[in-house]
Amino acid sequence: MFDDDPLQRETIASVMVPVAVPGPYTYKVPPGVSVVPGTIVRVPLGPREVLGAVWDNEPDPAINPKKLKSISHVYEGARPLDKDLRRFIDWVANWTLAAPGMVLRMVLRSEEALEEEPPVAGVRKIEGAAPERMTPARSRVLETMEDGFAWTKSGLAHAAGVSPSVIDGLLHQEVLEVVSLPAAPPPPKPQVDFCKPDLTPAQREAADGLIESFDKGAAVSLIDGVTGSGKTEVYFEAVAEALRRDRQVLVLLPEIALTEQFLRRFEQRFGVYPAEWHSEVSPKNRARTWRGVASGDVRVVIGARSALFLPYLELGLIVVDEEHDSAFKQDDRVPYSARDMAVVRGHISRFPVVLASATPSIESRVNADMGRYRRFVLPERASGAALPELKAIDMRHQGPERGRWIAPELLVAMKEAFADGAQTLLFLNRRGYAPLTLCRTCGHRFQCPHCSAWLVEHRFQGRLVCHHCGHNEKVPESCPSCGSVDSLIACGPGVERVAEEVADRFPEARTLILSSDLPGGPDRLRREMKIVEEGGADIVIGTQLVAKGHNFPKMRLVGVIDADLGLAHGDPRAAEKTFQLLAQVTGRAGRVTGGGKGFLQTYSPDHPVIKALLSSDRDAFYEAEIAARQAAGLPPFGRLAAIVVSGPDKRFAEDFARAFVRAAPREPAITLLGPAEAALAMVRGRYRYRLLAMAPRQLDLQAYLRAWLEQAPRPVKGLRVQVDIDPQHFL
Ligand code: ADP
Ligand code: ZN
Ligand code: ZN
Repeated sequence: MFDDDPLQRETIASVMVPVAVPGPYTYKVPPGVSVVPGTIVRVPLGPREVLGAVWDNEPDPAINPKKLKSISHVYEGARPLDKDLRRFIDWVANWTLAAPGMVLRMVLRSEEALEEEPPVAGVRKIEGAAPERMTPARSRVLETMEDGFAWTKSGLAHAAGVSPSVIDGLLHQEVLEVVSLPAAPPPPKPQVDFCKPDLTPAQREAADGLIESFDKGAAVSLIDGVTGSGKTEVYFEAVAEALRRDRQVLVLLPEIALTEQFLRRFEQRFGVYPAEWHSEVSPKNRARTWRGVASGDVRVVIGARSALFLPYLELGLIVVDEEHDSAFKQDDRVPYSARDMAVVRGHISRFPVVLASATPSIESRVNADMGRYRRFVLPERASGAALPELKAIDMRHQGPERGRWIAPELLVAMKEAFADGAQTLLFLNRRGYAPLTLCRTCGHRFQCPHCSAWLVEHRFQGRLVCHHCGHNEKVPESCPSCGSVDSLIACGPGVERVAEEVADRFPEARTLILSSDLPGGPDRLRREMKIVEEGGADIVIGTQLVAKGHNFPKMRLVGVIDADLGLAHGDPRAAEKTFQLLAQVTGRAGRVTGGGKGFLQTYSPDHPVIKALLSSDRDAFYEAEIAARQAAGLPPFGRLAAIVVSGPDKRFAEDFARAFVRAAPREPAITLLGPAEAALAMVRGRYRYRLLAMAPRQLDLQAYLRAWLEQAPRPVKGLRVQVDIDPQHFL
C-alpha cells in the first residue's frame, strides 16, 4: 500500500548499524529531513543509540511504519560516505563473512569526528590602537603581534614571555580584541618537488614504471628490492605523482614504532609531516585526521591497517610497505588482510596500488609471476654496499657452554665489531627472560591458569607473564607445589637473558633491549630506535620489532640466537615467515657502510630455509616454496579458511565442533580437516577446536561457507564460531 505513494516511500530508509546482523535495518526518516545513501546518522537500536549510515538497499516497504523507529539525528556537517567506500565495506564483509555493520564500524569509530570542532577564542591587535601606558611586557606583546595574525591567549603569553594578565589588560583597554579561530588550521600541503632525490638507474626505472601505472586504472605493482635498495625513495615518486594529480595518498606500514624515522624521511622529501593514523594517536587528532581526509585537507596519511577505512575524498594511491608482514592481518572481529583489501580498494576506485618488500609474500610473488602485478626488482643497495655475508653456526658442535646462548664464534665477531665502534644486533624473537620456569625439586612447571601456555619470566618486572592473555603473577619465593625454597630454575633464553649474558661479556658496551613489552610503551621504543640509529648503543638485543624496515647506519653485525625458532610450527607458512624474518633481520647489517655480517645459530644447518638464506639465493627459495605450495594446493593456488570453535566448557565445545562438521554441505572439491584441539588448546579460559577448509582456487569458498553456516547448529551457551578466510596464524 505504500509502494504507490512516493511521499510515503521517501519517509523510510535502510540504515546500516554497527552490530553483527546480516544487513541494514529500516528506519523512518523524520519529516523535513532528507537523507541519501551514505548519510551518517544516529539511530535507536534496542535500549541505546548507535551511529550508522544510510545504505543502498531498498528499505523494506512491507514493515508497518507504525512499528518503525525514527532516525534520531543526521550529521549534516559530515560528508556522506561515498559510493566507492560503501562498495568497499560491502566487499570486505562479503569476503570475510563478517557482518557489514561490523565493517562499517571500522569507518565510524570516532563520533567526535562527525561534528566540527568548536572554534577557540583568539586575540588580535586592533589596527591603530595603543595602550594608555607602555610597559616592557606590553611592548613585547605588541611586537609579537606585529604581523597582524591572531593568537590564542596562552600561545601569545608564552611567545611574548608575559603573564596572561598582561593580555587581559590590553583586551580591557581595547588594544586587542577577541576573535574566534578555527580549532585546527588545515595542515600544510606536501610539496611535490621539495627535495627530489637523485635516483640510481634501477630506481629510476622502477619509479617511472610506477608513474606510468597511474594511466592504467587499477594496476598493482610490486617493488621487490633487497634491504636498503631504496624502495622508499622509489615509491615516494609514486606519492609525488599522485599529489601532482591532486589525489590523496595512503601509505600503510606494519608497525607504529617504525613511523618516527619514516615521518622524518617524508618531511625531508615533501617538506611537511604527513597525517598519522594508528592506535597511539590521540582521539582528538584522530578526529581531525578523519575530518581532514573527508574534506580533502589531508593529502597523505601514514597509517596502520585501519587507515584503509578512512573516508577519503579523492584517494588515488595506496602503498603497502613491508607488504609481507603478518601485522597487516587483523585476527579478531573482522579478520581481514589490509594488503589484500588495499588491492581491492584500488580496484574499486581504479587507482594504482604499490606493494613493497625485500621479501615479498609468496602470494604477491606468484601474482607478479602470473602477470597480474608488475614487478620491479632492485637487486642492489642504494649505497652500493654489499649485502651481508651470512654464516651458520651449528649449535650441535659449535654451541656455547651450558647456560650460555651466544656461540664462541659469534662472540669473537662481536668483540671485533665493538673494537671497531660498529653496532651489533642480537636477534631473538622471544620477549622476557625465560620461556619456562620449573622447580628443580619436584618438576613443577608454571602454567597460565587461563591458557595452555607456560608463563614467561620477566625478570625486570619480577613477574611471570602469560603472553596470550596477559595474566601475570609475582615470581614466588618458594615452589607452590612442593614448597622448596630457591628451587626455581629458568629454562631457555628470552631477550632479557641474552642481555644479561651480553652485560657479563661486554661490561663496557652500551647495550639496549628493544622489545615491545618494556615499560614506557611506543614512546620509549621510538626514542630507543633513534638512539640506535644515531649510534648511541653498541649492542642491541631485540625481538622481531627490529626486523622491520629500520635503517641503522652503524649496524654491521647481526647474530640470530635461535634461527630455528619459527620452523617447528605446524603452520603452512612457517618456512616463508622464517625466511622473511631472518632475511629482514640480517638485512639490518652493513646497510650503509657495507662489510655486514650475519650469523645464524641453528641446530639444523641443512634446513632448506637456512640454506637458502646462506646462499643468498632468494629466487631458489621462492621457486621451491612456490612449487611446494602448488603441489599441496595451498594458497595462493588453493583457498583456505580456518574455523575456530571455542567455549568455556571443553566437552561441550568439542561436541559442538563435531556437530558443526557433520552439518557441512557435501562438496567433493573441498577438503575438511578437523576438528582438532588447537595448538593453543585454551586461551582466556576458552577451549578451542580448529577446523580447516581447503578448496581449489576456482571454487567460491565464501559461498560454500555461507551455506554451511546457514545449516549448521547455532552456537549457544557461550560457544563461539570464528571464521578466518586465508588464515595467517594456525595456533
Ligand atoms: P629500503 O626501503 O629498500 O630498505 P631505503 O629506501 O630505506 O631502502 O633506503 C636505504 C638508504 O639508502 C636510506 O638511507 C636512503 O636515504 C638511501 N638511499 C636510497 N636511495 C638513494 C639514492 N638514490 N641516493 C642516495 N641515497 C639513497
Ligand atoms: Zn617444587
Ligand atoms: Zn594466559
